[in-house]
Amino acid sequence: MASPSRAGAPAFDAAELDELKRTLVTACHILDHEGITDGYGHVSARVPGTAAFLTIANVSPGCATLERLIMLDCDGKYLGGAETPPNEWPIHACVLKARPDVMSVCHTHSVWSTLFSVLPIKLRPLHHYGKFLSADGPPVYEAAGLVRTVERGKALAAALGEGPVVLMRAHGDTVVGAGIEQAVQRTIRLAKLGELAHLALLHGEPRYLSADELETFSADERFPARGWEYYVSRLGK
Ligand SMILES: [Zn+2]
Repeated sequence: MASPSRAGAPAFDAAELDELKRTLVTACHILDHEGITDGYGHVSARVPGTAAFLTIANVSPGCATLERLIMLDCDGKYLGGAETPPNEWPIHACVLKARPDVMSVCHTHSVWSTLFSVLPIKLRPLHHYGKFLSADGPPVYEAAGLVRTVERGKALAAALGEGPVVLMRAHGDTVVGAGIEQAVQRTIRLAKLGELAHLALLHGEPRYLSADELETFSADERFPARGWEYYVSRLGK
């Protein structure tokens, strides 16, 4: 029986969390391998059906291991695992608390997200990789500084709203998904979109995708697991 004191979650060492932990570590390694994260950034995963989540301890995503994971509840209470949470744990706690539909959160200092967070133009979809975004692009969380307090975490979650992405001015991005695989693929695709938009803008005003055109692409949901399999294969595991 799960203990209420653990936000309904099983013990950190429970076998039922093994697969989620392995996927979380793989997610961190993928974002590092793809050059999206550097020494900083983190991925979290909600423990299904609970107000608890797993994320990496205060280590770089590329250095994540099963032993360097930590479990917190959505108020930041320590529930098990490595003892030091990432500095910006309120990003995950506050977004997961505000969005019951979200099962995973990625926070990165992506070059491309950071670039568009400080430009006077929005990062709007001009490739079907951006089909999960609205036609006018993601909002920007304007407050400068790291998100190390619940107050800032709540403000970030408010800026995210019901969307999949919020850019963070002079900082990076926060991307959510219905699972780890979706959050990671969205994060990578957001970076690819940023790079492509940057190149396109060198030539003038791009022909962005309209809301109707994004709808057309979104209707095609073939091969949902294909991208994840590809990124795992590039890790050489
Ligand atoms: Zn950060």
